[in-house]
Amino acid sequence: MSTQPRQIRLIMELRADGITDPNVLGAIERVPREKFVPPQFQDRAYENTALPIGDGQTISQPYIVALMTQALELSSRDRVLEIGTGCGYQAAVLSRLCRRVYTIERHRSLARAAQKLLASLDYTNITTKIGDGSKGWPEQAPFDKIIATAAAQNDVPAELFEQLADGGVLVAPIGASVLDQYLWRFRKRGEKIEEERLCAVRFVPLVRD
Ligand code: SAH
Repeated sequence: MSTQPRQIRLIMELRADGITDPNVLGAIERVPREKFVPPQFQDRAYENTALPIGDGQTISQPYIVALMTQALELSSRDRVLEIGTGCGYQAAVLSRLCRRVYTIERHRSLARAAQKLLASLDYTNITTKIGDGSKGWPEQAPFDKIIATAAAQNDVPAELFEQLADGGVLVAPIGASVLDQYLWRFRKRGEKIEEERLCAVRFVPLVRD
């Protein structure tokens, strides 16, 4: 697939906005976002905006996908857990930079569509599951990295920290209202968790079943 001018424009915009990791920019460039957005939004697939994907959910803005991916400091050996598959776009970006992505979505219809799409695009290192991701995926733990793409009200569920490997990084939005929501990065160091607030964000809520 050749890179289109609108894709190049998006990459330049991301770089100007502080996405400096060439691997992250490369992954964004290679994942065909137009395949992940509904047909009526095809022409806006490479705009730097979030778009609706059905069931009241959204595909994240490319800048936020890039920022969260960069914040995870991925290595090609990493096993990554994602909470909130949505349309599968973030999972596809992650999968190009790590060993395997485990991704959980609570909306059955979204999960099924994402699974089908990812298989059709040959993303063979992504495992999907339908369910409540706030409980993590104990059978596959520990994870080197964990990313939540839905916002926890007050705290990241304790299960997710339990399933994070020592030295691992967890990136998640936290905040009860979209007007007061921030992206956080946590690093597990033995018994200690280091925390760092990255920026203001707007995510749909993490719903616990
Ligand atoms: N990463 C997605 C964007 C996801 S939007 C992408 O690239 O398109 C957030 C998603 O989190 C929604 O699809 C929502 O249904 C899902 N979600 C919310 N709470 C959840 C939970 N407890 N477990 C799993 N998925 C959840």
